Amino acid sequence: MVFSDDSTVAIHHNNSLAWLDDIVDQIAVQGYNLIVIKGDDAFSFPDELDAILVLTASVCEHIYRQFQSSERTHPLIVLVTDDLVAHNTHADAVLPANPVQFNQCLMSMLELRRENLELRRELADAQAFIEKQRRLADEVEIIKNAIVRNVSHELKTPLLQVKSAVALLAEDVKDEKLADYAKGATARLETLVKNITLLGSSLDMTPSPVIVRDALEYAKRNLGRIWEHNDARDRIRFEIEADLAPVLADKQGLSTALQLLMDNALKFSKEAVDIHVKKIADRVEITVSDSGIGIEQEHLDRIFQTFYQVDSSSTRRYGGTGVGLAIVQLILDHHNTQIRVESEPGKGSTFSFTLPVVSI
Ligand code: ADP
Repeated sequence: MVFSDDSTVAIHHNNSLAWLDDIVDQIAVQGYNLIVIKGDDAFSFPDELDAILVLTASVCEHIYRQFQSSERTHPLIVLVTDDLVAHNTHADAVLPANPVQFNQCLMSMLELRRENLELRRELADAQAFIEKQRRLADEVEIIKNAIVRNVSHELKTPLLQVKSAVALLAEDVKDEKLADYAKGATARLETLVKNITLLGSSLDMTPSPVIVRDALEYAKRNLGRIWEHNDARDRIRFEIEADLAPVLADKQGLSTALQLLMDNALKFSKEAVDIHVKKIADRVEITVSDSGIGIEQEHLDRIFQTFYQVDSSSTRRYGGTGVGLAIVQLILDHHNTQIRVESEPGKGSTFSFTLPVVSI
């Protein structure tokens, strides 16, 4: 291929160009791969090229377009000329045909290009890693959800059979302690399965307008099934601000969270459990308070961890498995809101959170 003469730029100060070949040799020693295009014939370039030094603007233009239409990593395209101002070409740089200046500039550019390529490689690796982790997290999420849903379902029937058998056997068994132990263990298993079921139902959250009173009533009705042998449920008191707008929440999730908080409040206290609901700016605050045993400051952060119980003997005394508050936190995380707790040992505890009001 031949280029038109008008775009050809001469190097005035030194037509021998021997200095350019010398510089290319010197730079090559430092591990850079350069090529000088002196003529204007067709050319093809090897891979892993760091720079192409070109002596005419038209050739420069052509090489630029050649790389633009290919997928290859772009080497530096450098126009070497005395006429620094006159050129409006697509070169990455126009460098003076002066050996000292040329050498300095080219070296800096080559180093920058290497650093740039290295950073790009690191960025691509990091992006690939993030993408892999994301895919892995998705898979784990799917497997976890399947386990949570299936396990609770599959455990229910055999658990019911064991519970009935234990109850029957306990009637005849002489060792009462053993009978109590077996009954206690099945009750604990039952709570665990119930909590896994709750966890399963908390995995899919679909926010929609929810009337807080409905969610509270629903939670209280469900509590009635758990506290079936006494009147604990009657200790619950609602104080809900009048004309309260609905909140944006998943109804099932919100009810589950409230049920778990009320269950704890009933379990760890003997007096009334108060639920206050009021509007604060564009959110609704829900507070569950009891005047029971309370929680010491040092445990407050950790009670939301799965299987954490303040007192290891509390399982025997109060029942429970230490997953209730972890589920509450998971549900509220899905609602982008945080649970707060204030408590004083011997005086009681208050758990509260807010949800956005739906304006209709
Ligand atoms: P559990 O099934 O043991 O109740 P949770 O995750 O619901 O599990 O609660 C974790 C721990 O936090 C409980 O074991 C208890 O020590 C403490 N806790 C939670 N709620 C209250 C409360 N209202 N009053 C006192 N302690 C509480």
